[in-house]
Amino acid sequence: MDSAQYERKIAARFATFDQDGNGYIDREDFSAAARAVLAEFGTTARSDQGQAVFNGAEAFWQGMAGIADVDGDQRVTREEFITGAAKRLRDSPDRFAEIARPFLHAVIAVASGGSPEGSTPEAVARVLRVLGTAAEGAEQIARALDADGDGRISEEEILAAFAGYCGVEAPDA
Ligand code: CA
Ligand code: CA
Repeated sequence: MDSAQYERKIAARFATFDQDGNGYIDREDFSAAARAVLAEFGTTARSDQGQAVFNGAEAFWQGMAGIADVDGDQRVTREEFITGAAKRLRDSPDRFAEIARPFLHAVIAVASGGSPEGSTPEAVARVLRVLGTAAEGAEQIARALDADGDGRISEEEILAAFAGYCGVEAPDA
């Protein structure tokens, strides 16, 4: 990967987290994501499932801030994301993805209507769409996640896919 590709990938990851597109990642981006998912599935914020999504979003933000908010001002700038998170994204995307686990777990519970077998590809595509993935891409990704074609996507499959998405190789410098 050359450095221009690397820059583009990092910029795309940053944009994924900067949900409101105001140029930095903060707690509001995570609570906005939580609200969007709950609205999509008609789940109230006060319900147990709704609370779990908000708690997961807060834990996700805390994990992100712990890794990347270098100056501690509760905002992760693009600069901080690159210096703070890029190394982690490169060296251990699995560990990075773990900070998202409570959020993903809670979102899957909402999207699957509590089914222990996991979410359908359609439900996962809805989640991806409300979080900003283009409609066509969302359905493609969701279909690909159901690798064995049984119509269900498990938490582990989603976490592995998220880790894969987060993994960004550094340029050979
Ligand atoms: Ca933002
Ligand atoms: Ca900061």
